[in-house]
Amino acid sequence: MPIKKYIKKNKIPIIIIFFLTLNIILFITYLIKLNTPKPKFKQIKPKVTFNQKINYYKPKTIKKDNINPSVISEKTIYLTFDDGPSYLTDTILDILKKENVPATFFVIGTQIDKYANTIKRMQKENHTIALHSNTHNYSYIYANEENYYNDLNQIRNKVFQIVGIKPRIIRFPGGSSNTVSKKYNQGIMSRITNNLTENSFYYFDWNIDSTDASGNISQDVIYQNTVNKIHSGTNIILMHDAATKKTTALALENIIKYAKENGYTFAKITKNTPQIHHHINN
Ligand SMILES: [Zn+2]
Repeated sequence: MPIKKYIKKNKIPIIIIFFLTLNIILFITYLIKLNTPKPKFKQIKPKVTFNQKINYYKPKTIKKDNINPSVISEKTIYLTFDDGPSYLTDTILDILKKENVPATFFVIGTQIDKYANTIKRMQKENHTIALHSNTHNYSYIYANEENYYNDLNQIRNKVFQIVGIKPRIIRFPGGSSNTVSKKYNQGIMSRITNNLTENSFYYFDWNIDSTDASGNISQDVIYQNTVNKIHSGTNIILMHDAATKKTTALALENIIKYAKENGYTFAKITKNTPQIHHHINN
């Protein structure tokens, strides 16, 4: 008798048929597994830990040429340039090389993006690469400390990627005496300057203003305003190498010549340079 008819005739419930079939399938699967040879060794999956040491790409440090030496004397001039690099910076570097004097560049991150080769040249020609700001955006960097340190880390990392050094010498946009920051956050300059000093950063203002920040100033006025103010001791001269400061580049050679003729020497800023600090005004 065919099975369908047999089931119908004997009225075997469908659920029993289902379980019987399932048991047969499971039994066959078990037999197949029993006959499969087991691997001799357990495969070990590599463990991933969260504190794994990651080796970041470290750029090669650029070897410095043995030029533009710092000469510290009773009458020392520290030429400092803010807001660059720009297309003018190479002209400034040419003059410094010709006169064999070092300088300090307080660079801006957004300019570094465009002038990475100029940064490499600064390092190779033995100048100090120092930090001004990544964005130079007062309303952002002085809004709170988190923003300030984010900005600082960004520019430090940019310089590191190009020349393999992380500068610790800085100049605040507007100087430490700026009165703009308190509009965004009262007391922020006092807190930042204290914190940076505690963490082995060195901030520098200036005691000679070349006055080249004011718009459309002639090279003769920049020259006069600078040489009239230099004196014995430490002279930290504020200048700019932003793209609009062509007259600064034109005045530079004569300023250097005047200073040499009057017994001044030139040095770049290091962490051992006497720190000129303005009165904080926030
Ligand atoms: Zn600036």
